[in-house]
Amino acid sequence: MKIAVIGAGLTGLKCAMELKEFAKIKVFEKLSVGGLLSSFCNGYCIEKFYHHAFKSDTELIKLIGKFGLKSKLVWKTVKVGIAKNGKIYSLSTPLEILKYPYMSLIDKLKLAIFTIKSRKRDFEKFDEFNAIESIRNELGSSLLENFFMPMLKAKFGENASDVSFAWLLARVAIRSNRKLRGEEIGYLRHGFHQLLEKMCEDIEIINKDAKIKLEGKWTVNGEDFDAIVFTAPLPELGDLKDKLGIPEIRYQSSICALISLKKSISDIYWLNVEGASFGAIIEHTNFMPFEDYGEHLVYLASYTMPDSEFFRASDSELEKLFLKDLEKFGVKRGDLNWIKIFRAKFSSPIYEKGFLKKITPYRVANGFYIAGMTSRPNYPERSMNGSLLAGKEVAEILRKDFGLI
Ligand SMILES: Cc1cc2nc3c(=O)[nH]c(=O)nc-3n(C[C@H](O)[C@H](O)[C@H](O)COP(=O)(O)OP(=O)(O)OC[C@H]3O[C@@H](n4cnc5c(N)ncnc54)[C@H](O)[C@@H]3O)c2cc1C
Repeated sequence: MKIAVIGAGLTGLKCAMELKEFAKIKVFEKLSVGGLLSSFCNGYCIEKFYHHAFKSDTELIKLIGKFGLKSKLVWKTVKVGIAKNGKIYSLSTPLEILKYPYMSLIDKLKLAIFTIKSRKRDFEKFDEFNAIESIRNELGSSLLENFFMPMLKAKFGENASDVSFAWLLARVAIRSNRKLRGEEIGYLRHGFHQLLEKMCEDIEIINKDAKIKLEGKWTVNGEDFDAIVFTAPLPELGDLKDKLGIPEIRYQSSICALISLKKSISDIYWLNVEGASFGAIIEHTNFMPFEDYGEHLVYLASYTMPDSEFFRASDSELEKLFLKDLEKFGVKRGDLNWIKIFRAKFSSPIYEKGFLKKITPYRVANGFYIAGMTSRPNYPERSMNGSLLAGKEVAEILRKDFGLI
């Protein structure tokens, strides 16, 4: 039996790993192996887009263990904060949150109660509700403006106003399960490329854009296959998307500038930023040791739409814009060693109203399967763990369908 897997991101690679002993597998990848998790190497390797793991990422942790990389998986409680009106506020401990001047004590209490309650709420009931309107009704305008809007804008940029209340509740519930000192996050020291390299072992990867057709049989670039597992973003399906009856899902794009600095910006790992061309400053070397790189590495992260002027701007235009906004954080031209711009056109679905009904089933037609960012394990947050689970689950279904036990 011959199976084509489209996309060599985590979903595609995991699916190929699960199927390789039962069938002949060919993985097609049009850009970089690893997809959104791919790295930039410069004496060391670092992800093009910031990545960290959570303690609840059981599938990811299991895979890291399977490949003998467990000793490289390090956990750390990092500092988080917000930059507002030219000042940086650490919001890492209960005391720091109590001292934060842009929220009243009543709002802080309301937020704490909302957070605890969100773990018990049936978020699916709120799929048709708008997050911003619901928060305004439930918690009032000041909590919306001072807490939820910066969070929504850092995650969804200009699409913040379309996000569903179901997404917000589910997200608050999974991210609120933290210790008093903050949440521990994990990283594969020296980079997740080490995991990708292990996953690729014994897998045939063809570095080509896959053109899929149904001509009596499924074909990819003219070659016949018994089954296809499509793990790329849905817009990459082209006309086939409508023929297969897949509902329209909007995606947003990511732009990440990875910069090397001669000095650190602050001691905060994740800093949400208001009023700049980027929504967050993520200082990687406040998480991993400086010695691993010999320079301060910082991501400037922003989300936008694939057809926006911002996404289409040239690298040099973006560099200028980012460096100008960085001056507000005391970073001057002379502090910069280098800057690299990375873009992902379809970096995440937008979890807007009604999204839950559009989650893609694994089997969409005879011999045609879809798994990836729009699969159930990637709700409410697309993640490395969710993609590994999607890759595993789609392989299980395909094996049952074809009796590959
Ligand atoms: C800015 C950013 C930060 C993130 N941070 C985290 C984090 O901290 N923690 C976490 O757990 N997750 C994080 N993620 C999410 C995580 O990276 C993804 O959920 C996961 O890597 C997606 O894997 P995937 O295989 O489903 O999709 P992708 O990685 O998108 O893989 C799909 C692959 O298909 C390929 N492809 C597309 N079209 C074709 C075609 N026609 N033919 C052949 N190949 C094709 C693409 O090039 C791509 O390589 C982040 C993502 C981004 C963008």
